[in-house]
Amino acid sequence: MQINVGQLLKEHTGASRSYDIADISSHEKNSQHIQGTIDLLRTKRGILVKAKVKTQIEENCIRCLKTMLCSIYFEFEEEVFPQVYLEDQTTDADYENRIIDNNNILNLSDLLRQYIELNKPLKPLCKPDCQGIQII
Ligand SMILES: [Zn+2]
Repeated sequence: MQINVGQLLKEHTGASRSYDIADISSHEKNSQHIQGTIDLLRTKRGILVKAKVKTQIEENCIRCLKTMLCSIYFEFEEEVFPQVYLEDQTTDADYENRIIDNNNILNLSDLLRQYIELNKPLKPLCKPDCQGIQII
């Protein structure tokens, strides 16, 4: 999921853009279930990404191991920086995924993947009273 932020980076602090995730990810594989909005806010050093994301992931029920789709929803805010800015700083591993490349492309795929990972249900159940694997 990529957004060209070249224009926004030229604008003053406080400038913003809003995107519908469906519009920026429609051509990508495996993204048909991702919905929500991405707001970008120009900060002094970079861009603050505010995301509201709704998606569905495949999980296996912890009791019966059946594969099912789980809906998850999460919000996050992360500041991302242009490559040139980061090269001036002592490299912080934490920033690795949060860069805007030299063509002003902000790639949100890694961030989204991380947040999906963090927001996965800990104990997915196909139904609240799942009896588990039935031995006949
Ligand atoms: Zn189950």
